[in-house]
Amino acid sequence: MKLLIEHAAIVASATAAIIENGYIVTNGSYIEKIGSGEWQDAKDRFDQVIDAGGCVVMPGLINTHGHAAMALLRGYADDLPLQEWLQNKIWPLEDQLTAEDIYVGTQLGILEMLKSGTTCFTDMYFFEEQVALAVEQSGMRAVLSRGLIGFGEKGESAKQEAVEFVGKYEGYANGRIRTMLGPHAPYTCPPEYLRGIAELSKELQVPIQIHLSETRKEVADCLQQYGKTPIQLVKEVGLLDRPVIGAHCVHVTDEDLDIIAACGMAIAHNPNSNLKLGSGIAPLTKMLERGIVVGLGTDGAASNNRLDMFEEMRMAAMIHKGLLENPLAISASTALHLATKGGADALFLGNSLGTLTVGSLADFIIVDFQKPHLQPRHDILAHLVYAAAAGDVRDVIIDGRVVIQNKACLTLDETQIFKQANQIVDRLLQRQ
Ligand SMILES: [Zn+2]
Repeated sequence: MKLLIEHAAIVASATAAIIENGYIVTNGSYIEKIGSGEWQDAKDRFDQVIDAGGCVVMPGLINTHGHAAMALLRGYADDLPLQEWLQNKIWPLEDQLTAEDIYVGTQLGILEMLKSGTTCFTDMYFFEEQVALAVEQSGMRAVLSRGLIGFGEKGESAKQEAVEFVGKYEGYANGRIRTMLGPHAPYTCPPEYLRGIAELSKELQVPIQIHLSETRKEVADCLQQYGKTPIQLVKEVGLLDRPVIGAHCVHVTDEDLDIIAACGMAIAHNPNSNLKLGSGIAPLTKMLERGIVVGLGTDGAASNNRLDMFEEMRMAAMIHKGLLENPLAISASTALHLATKGGADALFLGNSLGTLTVGSLADFIIVDFQKPHLQPRHDILAHLVYAAAAGDVRDVIIDGRVVIQNKACLTLDETQIFKQANQIVDRLLQRQ
């Protein structure tokens, strides 16, 4: 497949100069050429020519933390603190979810992400092979891990499933699927279990994703039980000797942050989920000051309730300005970086993803700027972060393939997914 995108304003990265009236040529999965001015050569060698006049082309957004199938639980349990929310509402309902439910829920989550400009997402859940199937069929790019709760027999069999999952799906779907090991959190995985995961990660040569220091209570419990913060604990069991992305890190001490920086651990910052669950606000500026790699994430739709990375990007800029009473705290450029290259780096995919450069993967989105809230075009970067919204995404290209065209998904049946998702929820809540 060869594509020509022409007449676009191109934002190749958060720091590059904007290319006006630019073109992008793709060849297979990769970007072959980027330039400015009219395309002079023949166009008949392209499978498709896309006129992006009046639009902005930018790298696809990268969602570094989530549980896509939780789209099924959106709006089911709101306005509760994390532990109560998990134990009394989410876990009992999740227990009833079948493999088919996870497949449909993931399709719904992917559809929402694609239509709002996300081209790569991370997932940690169960029935993860169903997630892989939905990813394969949708044309999405993803980093998947079977979620692990590390207690007893079940913990051991889940670990075995995780090994099989990595063996089968690492590099699957033309390389669009990558894998990680996904121990849920230090409060659901005892230290010895985490030590085993670190060893497994080395053996299988895949990174690890884990929830860390999400709430004040989690940190207090960990200190009481082990005499260590969650960050100190995962360091001690050898987890941080491996490539790790830690989700949340809301309640981290300066010493924790020094450990994270020294070990090269990456962080998924989930501003909306942390706000909605009343968990707090992660010290993003302190992370960036220390050179820690940070990406943005939505977390699951039950705790957000959107899978909208434009919203995360805007929120990441806004809350830290407000919190620190400093409008310079997180700039538009920094927020855009976190949602693109920062995310790619946090998933250990930064070599080929996150910026638009010759030889990088052809994952990008076309944002329609012919909208009242995106005019006049003073500053394209600022518009993308502070003014643009999910609904402005017109086309989405992943791995050199058009997946969303004129706001329609070419790979998933939207009507069917809505119908099935509602049937599942009716069954779960015994409304039929
Ligand atoms: Zn999560």
